[in-house]
Amino acid sequence: MKPAPFHYHAPKTIEETLSLLAEFAPDDGRVIAGGQSLVPTMAFRLARPKHLVDINGVKALDTLKIQDGKLCIGAGVRHAAFHQPVDDGPLGRMLAAVVRHIAHYPIRTRGTFCGSIAHADPASEWCAVAAALDAEMVAESKRGGLRVIAAKDFFKGIMTTALRDEELLTEVRLPIPPNDIHVGFAEFSRRAGDYAIAMAVATYRLKDGVMSEMRIAVGGAEAAPRRMIEAERVLIGHPPNLGAFQAAAHAAANALDPLDDENVSAGYRCDIARIMVCRALEQANA
Ligand SMILES: Cc1cc2nc3c(=O)[nH]c(=O)nc-3n(C[C@H](O)[C@H](O)[C@H](O)COP(=O)(O)OP(=O)(O)OC[C@H]3O[C@@H](n4cnc5c(N)ncnc54)[C@H](O)[C@@H]3O)c2cc1C
Repeated sequence: MKPAPFHYHAPKTIEETLSLLAEFAPDDGRVIAGGQSLVPTMAFRLARPKHLVDINGVKALDTLKIQDGKLCIGAGVRHAAFHQPVDDGPLGRMLAAVVRHIAHYPIRTRGTFCGSIAHADPASEWCAVAAALDAEMVAESKRGGLRVIAAKDFFKGIMTTALRDEELLTEVRLPIPPNDIHVGFAEFSRRAGDYAIAMAVATYRLKDGVMSEMRIAVGGAEAAPRRMIEAERVLIGHPPNLGAFQAAAHAAANALDPLDDENVSAGYRCDIARIMVCRALEQANA
């Protein structure tokens, strides 16, 4: 099938983009970034936006920089920008490991980091990373100005976020963890490049042989990714070992409210999430 007819707008600046969104978002206008999620849904006519505001010509959004201890990722930055570590420390290594799980290479050269965050597929790897690291989402609109939204308040459910219709997600900021932070990521999908059934991100600091500053997030298993405080609590103050990791993984699985569909039952998803939490922790400890 082909998309339903739409009006196409190609702004060159952020200001122009915000004006177009203020005018057309109320009339079913949408941002198009990489188009890797939006275009397929338009082709199937599951989405029929009347206006597309294409941000690919807005050079000011193509920025990837470190500022005030945060990695600031502009709305034009593609997934492929993370194939090589963008930072010398554990964050750069983790993002380079995670990006290889996102779709396939051609999709990674078009799809954007911020597009994934705005789209908020429950199985998005970047959304799980953003939840784990307590990312900040920078949203701008003509009427509302600039808002910074914490990850815990941003992801509301399946493809549902705190972004307002006329807001542009201009930037996502990831706090840069210290160099001695241990990081791990694990996901399970049926085939390479498929959306994951479940994934986990784990980070911690080792001090005097015990874990602190725990962060564990699960993605893909629930309607939205989130930190699993229940699992983090199990590990704080304990040495890293398989028994502790398994106990935390059980705590995470018990706390889940898993998605359930004809392909993947809730019970199976919980099992996979439990194993992913354990594997992410083992990887962080490797
Ligand atoms: C075959 C296939 C496999 C895939 N597998 C995976 C996978 O394993 N993991 C994964 O995470 N993703 C996967 N994707 C999706 C891919 O990562 C997309 O790139 C991503 O979901 C959306 O980014 P985009 O830039 O393409 O956004 P678009 O498709 O352009 O937009 C998606 C939605 O977000 C909105 N939007 C985009 N940018 C902004 C912004 N800056 N401000 C406000 N709203 C915005 C759009 O209006 C639209 O509603 C897959 C896609 C395909 C086609």
